[in-house]
Amino acid sequence: MLLTKREFCKGVAAASALGAISGPLFAATSEKENPMTAATQKKESPMFTLPELPYAQNALEPYITSNTLSFHHGKHHKAYVDNLNKLVADTPLAGATLEEVIKESAKDTAKAGIFNNSAQVWNHTFYWHSMKPGGGGAPKGEIAKRIDKDLGGFDAFKEQFKQAATTQFGSGWAWLVLDGAKLKVIKTGNADLPMVHGQKALLTCDVWEHAYYLDYQNKRPDYVSTFLDKLVNWEFVEKNLG
Ligand code: MN
Repeated sequence: MLLTKREFCKGVAAASALGAISGPLFAATSEKENPMTAATQKKESPMFTLPELPYAQNALEPYITSNTLSFHHGKHHKAYVDNLNKLVADTPLAGATLEEVIKESAKDTAKAGIFNNSAQVWNHTFYWHSMKPGGGGAPKGEIAKRIDKDLGGFDAFKEQFKQAATTQFGSGWAWLVLDGAKLKVIKTGNADLPMVHGQKALLTCDVWEHAYYLDYQNKRPDYVSTFLDKLVNWEFVEKNLG
């Protein structure tokens, strides 16, 4: 069962008032000591599940192969889900939504493992939806107008996005985000993501090597260009714009 933020905080406050939590907020407590967790979590059922891809595993070929997606979705994304379920089981975060887990764990370096796995679960789901068969190229509608206004046009956007994606040192993500009322292109390292920086994600490209190595080997710029020209799901981006 998922809790709203208010219910979640209320539960923690109630547990604290009863003296069940003696350490800092969200310190590990046993299920017995935490009535909120016991009441909201069935121990046997995993809290987070691996979402289905929004298209067939071979639907993005030849640009991203079925082989890449079988590992990337079936192994990498699945491992983040499995790890997250293990890490939050029997903790006060066990009844929280994915976004709540991400935001709470981001505040506490002792919860880096929970943050990395929860953020990577979210990032990958967002990435699958950022692509579609027959996607890419210039957008239309409201998002096109906003790109013209805030980023200086589609070609300028493409250059900024390619720059962000190819200069991210090591593993990470390139993003189109809404920062306040303005579109921005940013990059993040490892599992880091816009929501913990007060930004709203609109589009992402995974630039971890596992995203492109089987299809493009070391040629990250080719993968990013293909992502922009053939794969971007602009309807999803427009929907995120709200
Ligand atoms: Mn990945």
